[in-house]
Amino acid sequence: MNLQDRKQLIEDSIRKACLRSGRARQDVEVIAVTKYVNLGITEQVLEQGWLHIGENRWQDAQEKWEKLGSRGTWHFIGHLQSNKVKDVIGKFQYIHSLDRISLVREIERQAELRQMEAYCFIQVNVSGELSKFGLSAEQFFPFVEALKAFPHIRIAGLMTMAPHEKKPEETRPVFRGLRLLRDQLNERNILGYEVPHLSMGMSNDYEVAIEEGSTWIRLGSILVGKDEE
Ligand SMILES: *Cc1c(COP(=O)(O)O)cnc(C)c1O
Repeated sequence: MNLQDRKQLIEDSIRKACLRSGRARQDVEVIAVTKYVNLGITEQVLEQGWLHIGENRWQDAQEKWEKLGSRGTWHFIGHLQSNKVKDVIGKFQYIHSLDRISLVREIERQAELRQMEAYCFIQVNVSGELSKFGLSAEQFFPFVEALKAFPHIRIAGLMTMAPHEKKPEETRPVFRGLRLLRDQLNERNILGYEVPHLSMGMSNDYEVAIEEGSTWIRLGSILVGKDEE
């Protein structure tokens, strides 16, 4: 299947998920995760009008970013080592994996040097799977309190990864849990501004994530094909 056909199918199921949950299509953005594919296919992805690109390692993203960086908005979605912050900051407009204070400190330092605000998502390990990065639900509010001391970091939203389930429906409590955390965060107004976004839902479970309020779905294999081209 070519990229255009895939896009139609995905677009169709996004629309249906929006309809089922009474949401507007424009409230859900797609991040095209291009970590599985090369520069040429990444360019085709942009040409299809998917203008948000997700990558999870700087080493793999570098060439794509250097050639195509100005043509889209770049999202760093993988675990970020502190010594890599200087490589991605200012290039990736969003970092989806803020999960510890040492990383916060380094992002703050690099953002201050550049006199910019760094837009980040707080990664929460809602499911509690040991193999996943992210804060536990208990760590979440103390972490947000601590963020107030870092004026160059701006929280755009929360991010999670659900466990891979054969039945996508089983991921629903994870997505709902993330939404509740965001809503509580906004009710308590800890940061002094509204935190609008939820980065949740991948190829296997994005329809459920949309029903639970996702505003950014991160699609890799379903969108660009894996090991195919
Ligand atoms: C790879 C990756 C995705 C995309 O995964 P698919 O299941 O291929 O859609 C989304 N989010 C993160 C953090 C990833 O690393």
